[in-house]
Amino acid sequence: MNDNGKDTEKTIDPQHVVTLRARLQGSVLLPGDEGYERARQTWDAKTFDQHPAVVVLPARASDVQAAVTFAREHNLPIAMQGGGHGHPHPADGALLVNFANMTDVQIEPETATARVEPGATWKEVIQAASPYGLAPLNGFAASVGVVGYLLGGGCGWLTRQYGAGAGSMRSVELVTADGDLLQVNEQTHPDLLWGLRVGGAHL
Ligand SMILES: Cc1cc2nc3c(=O)[nH]c(=O)nc-3n(C[C@H](O)[C@H](O)[C@H](O)COP(=O)(O)OP(=O)(O)OC[C@H]3O[C@@H](n4cnc5c(N)ncnc54)[C@H](O)[C@@H]3O)c2cc1C
Repeated sequence: MNDNGKDTEKTIDPQHVVTLRARLQGSVLLPGDEGYERARQTWDAKTFDQHPAVVVLPARASDVQAAVTFAREHNLPIAMQGGGHGHPHPADGALLVNFANMTDVQIEPETATARVEPGATWKEVIQAASPYGLAPLNGFAASVGVVGYLLGGGCGWLTRQYGAGAGSMRSVELVTADGDLLQVNEQTHPDLLWGLRVGGAHL
């Protein structure tokens, strides 16, 4: 149990973790491993404490697919963490996918489009976009994660002029609960894209 009385004692057979590690380009951390303490922290580490059974730090989309599949195979709850500003529940005893090592941002100035990896915060997007004279539809704190913000709609400095940030979300690379990888946009899955805008984190 942790200080909040939550069950944090779920453990995983280390042999199963060997199998998971072999499937990934990214890292898998168990309690006691170097880096685990950092990887389990959120933005508000002092008041929001969580103790995942295992943390996956993916390096690519197929790592996320492998993590989701592993969690399903081993009946583990699963949690996603981007900027770490908005967790509804601590990921105690869960498989936490922490996107801290996927923060790349690519700007396509011709179409005023940013391609953002799931761990990027608005700070990274602002820094990448500003040399082109572009500004993203970020909120009032640049440390907030891009994906978590957009999944909740996203209201910020430019909302009155351009609408909520989620309205400008054009395409999403999405891993389903079955571990499938989908390209979600207006042409491929318009209903899903609609749901990801605002309803996303709970979809
Ligand atoms: C200091 C502060 C300032 C804020 N300012 C604003 C503001 O100006 N405007 C505004 O609209 N909101 C604001 N928010 C709210 C913020 O947008 C939400 O809390 C948002 O969910 C945080 O996203 P995150 O990625 O940082 O957090 P996280 O805790 O990492 O994620 C939040 C939720 O999104 C899910 N999620 C994140 N990434 C993924 C992913 N890749 N795949 C699937 N699910 C994912 C998580 O599972 C979780 O449920 C602020 C919050 C804080 C703490």
